[in-house]
Amino acid sequence: MTMERLQRYSVIREKNPREIVLLKGRGCQWRRCAFCDYYLDGSPDEEADFLVNREVLAQVTGETGCLEVINSGSFSDLDDRTMDEIASVCCAKHIRELHFECHWINRGAIPKARSRFRGLGVTLKIKTGVETFDAEFRENVLNKGIKETDPAKIAEPFDECCLLFGIAGQTKAGMIRDIETGLKYFERVCVNIMNENGTEIHPDPEVIRTFRSEILPVYRDNDRVDILMNNTDFGVG
Ligand code: SF4
Repeated sequence: MTMERLQRYSVIREKNPREIVLLKGRGCQWRRCAFCDYYLDGSPDEEADFLVNREVLAQVTGETGCLEVINSGSFSDLDDRTMDEIASVCCAKHIRELHFECHWINRGAIPKARSRFRGLGVTLKIKTGVETFDAEFRENVLNKGIKETDPAKIAEPFDECCLLFGIAGQTKAGMIRDIETGLKYFERVCVNIMNENGTEIHPDPEVIRTFRSEILPVYRDNDRVDILMNNTDFGVG
């Protein structure tokens, strides 16, 4: 996998317009989700990562006032100099809203980050991958690593959630329930459709067909719902 060839900067113009950057960090600390191979973008070379990240962040223009940073893990996996660079870019480009990703196990890092950026006049929005509120499926099949079962408690430290659809065993009713639960407890929901990757979890064409014909039309125009049929739909990756 040649990560340097990844597209690392893009602008999302519909629904919650924002610039988006894919940065490099030391990699997800969980690394056990059964459906995921994203964490292969992690690297132990902090200096090299910082240089990549600085170059990517230099492309941010501030045109929407909003920036999303993703890094195949949690924001707390980014090195200190990259975090400083993000803070500088926010100030220089008048970014007022900054979106980060964070796994459940790293939620303890959120309050300090919120307060650091609040001091710069930047509101943090933290997105977490829940994948489904069906705790048994989430933990026994997807191995997500969220022991909490109460959606309200899962949502507490976060602002936004990701859901993962298109896997055998998922149903129309279950997917709708997940989206509605996400909308109830989070500001925004991002639905990812399972794409083929190197893991043992494969997309289920029948579940995806059901999503496409019966659920997508209902939520397509909902401003609080992003839907990624392919994992590069945001223009990075
Ligand atoms: S937390 Fe995210 S990056 Fe880490 S293994 Fe799970 S899906 Fe992959």
